[in-house]
Formats: sequence, C-alpha cells, structure tokens
Amino acid sequence: MTTHKQIVSRWIDLLWLAFLVGLALLPPVREIHKQLILVAIGAFQLVEGSMVARLPARGRAYSVIIKILLATILLDHTGGMAINSSYYPIYYLPVVTAAVYFGPLGTLLWTFLASTAYCSLLIPALEEYELTRQGATELAIRILFFFLAGMLVNRFAVEYRRQVQRYQILSEELAETNRELRQVQEQARRSERLAALGQLSAGLAHEIRNPLGIIKGSAEILGRKLQGSAPLALELAENISSEVNRLNALVARFLDFARPSPLTRQPVDLRVIVDRAAESVRLQYPQSAVQIVRHYSNEPAEVEADEQLTEQVFVNLILNALQAMEGQRDAKVFLSVAPGREDGRRGAVVEVQDTGPGVSPELREQIFNPFFTSKKDGVGLGLSIVAKIIDDHGGTIQLENHAVGGACFRVFLPAELKE
Ligand code: ADP
Repeated sequence: MTTHKQIVSRWIDLLWLAFLVGLALLPPVREIHKQLILVAIGAFQLVEGSMVARLPARGRAYSVIIKILLATILLDHTGGMAINSSYYPIYYLPVVTAAVYFGPLGTLLWTFLASTAYCSLLIPALEEYELTRQGATELAIRILFFFLAGMLVNRFAVEYRRQVQRYQILSEELAETNRELRQVQEQARRSERLAALGQLSAGLAHEIRNPLGIIKGSAEILGRKLQGSAPLALELAENISSEVNRLNALVARFLDFARPSPLTRQPVDLRVIVDRAAESVRLQYPQSAVQIVRHYSNEPAEVEADEQLTEQVFVNLILNALQAMEGQRDAKVFLSVAPGREDGRRGAVVEVQDTGPGVSPELREQIFNPFFTSKKDGVGLGLSIVAKIIDDHGGTIQLENHAVGGACFRVFLPAELKE
C-alpha cells in the first residue's frame, strides 16, 4: 500500500527532477556533458536514500563525496572559465547534504572539502589570468555563503534529529509501559478467577468428601461381609473402594488448590529447590529420555519462601514440560535459576523451558484457568496451583515466547514479601 509519506516523497522527487530539467533547458543547451551530469545528479538523488539505508556506516560520506565530484564536473563543463560558472551554487547540494547527515564539525569539514574542490577550479584559470582583488573577494563571499548555509541547515537538522530521538525513546517507554500494564491486567484477571473458583471448589470438595467417606466405609464393610461367599460382589465392592480412593485424591487436590495455604517462609536457595523438583520428577518418570539442562548462577538465588510449596511449583512446571514432549525425540528441558529483579524488587528468576510444541497464543491465558486441560487424563489444576502459590508469595509467572520454540515459563519470586 502506498502511504501518505511515500506519495509526498514522490512529489518532492518529481519537483526536484523538474528543477533539474529547468537547468538543462538553460544555456549552454548543446553542451552534452552538462546534460549528462544533470541526469547523473537527478539519478543519484533518486537512489541516494536506498544507498544510505544499505550502507549505514559509509553511505552518507559516499553520498557527499559523489555530490562534490558531480558539482565539480558540472562546473568544469559550464562557462568558459569553470570558476566563473553561474552553476557554482550546485555546491550547496553536497554542503546541505552534509549538514543533514552529520554534526556541526562534520558539516564544517565537508563544507571545507566542497570549497577546496571549488577553489581547485582556479588552477587552470591561473595559468592564463591573474586573480584580481575583486575576483578573490567574490570567491571568498561565495565560499562564506557555503559555510553559512551549511551551519544554518545543520542547526535545524541536529535539532530535528534530537526531537526524533526523544520521540523514539518516549514511544519505546510507552510500549514497555503498555506491555507491563497488559501483564498486570492478565495477572489480576487470573487472580480473580482463581479466588472465585477456589471458593467454589472448596465448598464442593467439602460436600463431596463426607458422602465419599461413607461410600468407602460401606464398601469395605460389604467386602468383609462377603469375604469368600460371592466373588463377583466382592470384586465390585473393591472397585467401589478403589474408585473412591481416586475421587478422594482428586478432592484433596481441589482442597490444596482452594485452601488459603499458610506459608512457612524461610530463606531458601532456589537452585536447591529446582534441583529437588527435577529429581522428584525423575523419580516419577524414571523411563523418560528427556534431557535436563541446567543453567544456574554461581551466586545463590536466595528468597524467603515456603520450601514445599515452591518445590511443588517447579515439579508441576517440569512435569508439564515432560508431558508436552512425550514421544518427542531429542527432547530437552532447560532450567535456569539466577538472582534477578522485577519492578524494582530484589528476588530470583527461574525459567523452565522445553523444546515441545509450545502454547498457542489463543491458549496463553486459558492454561492458567482451573480445570483447563488439553490432556486426555489431565485435571487442569497444575498451573492454577502454580499460579496460586506464586501469587501467595507475591511473585509473578509469565509464559514467554522464545526463539527456540517450546514453552518457557518465567517465575519471579521476591526476596521478601511486600508489606
Ligand atoms: P494438566 O497438566 O492437568 O493439563 P495444567 O494446569 O498443568 O493441567 O496445564 C494446563 C494445560 O496447559 C495443559 O493441558 C497444556 O495444554 C498446557 N501446558 C502446560 N504446560 C505446557 C507446556 N510446557 N507445553 C505446552 N503446553 C503446556
């Protein structure tokens, strides 16, 4: 699509070409070299932008040099004596270009070079004529005007560049603030949902627990009474009992999630906790071929936290990573632990990253919802429990997009709880 800016710059290019055509139509019209140089100036003006963009380091200097050369050749082909040519203002072109691209010192230097190039045209003239006082004065005036124009344009260009830089910084800061705001909103929404669902599941779990106890007790009594007499009924009673156990475990997890867990905070080194979590996952999945890669800082990542609950956080995250990469070849989990800061608070940062399929943008927020699962036998409480424990510690958890692919959960735990 053509933007407004592109249309304006095309118009300016056309105007610029029209002025060059005007110069071409003025005498000496039959001087083919003059016309060719004007074409070269026009063509260079059109490609200059892309050349400077492609060669950011030297493109600007090349551009000024080329313009000084073209100006000098143009003067050489217009007017009997090059130094007297009425086309001498063409030197404003390199001077103004330098003023736009460089700082004040650069502008002075390039203007000096342009003036030297102009003065070099004196050499052939001096072979035939003498430089009169009046001629020298005229030359000095012209050169001083080069400097005046260069410095004037440079002042505006420098100020403009400063403004652009200021706006750039401002817009970057604004984007960063926006990003942080979105994260805070995301976390606030998550906390609200957790609180509401926590209360609901706590109520339900309590209600379910009592009848479950009675069913289990009854099934056991039934089993004892039927011992040996009716094998089928006995098997059914055992089924009831084992299914009740399963339900009880589930209810226990609901309660874990819902109960306002009292924290027993003590100084812990998260490198030790994450190691312990990885070990416990290994014990649960002894056959897993997933490689665990550790990047731990040398200095301790110490925070005041509940040892058991934080271990559960990392167990859940590592378990999820393992499950996401099930059956995948060359699967890896990267664990990194280091002291860090967030929002001006001191603490530690742990990243659990895998090489699995990652989380699609649509699911980014949902995965923290209680009971959201994409697994056949998942419950969908793992990440909710993780988020809740981290919330209770005054920390944050974010799912980050990483270049390697896979999911990367970044956990920040503050060194001390905010009062
Ligand atoms: P569950 O493990 O029971 O499904 P969780 O709350 O732990 O419950 O996870 C919720 C969902 O988040 C998972 O079902 C999965 O879709 C997604 N998820 C969590 N961790 C990862 C991961 N490391 N890679 C890809 N998806 C993940």
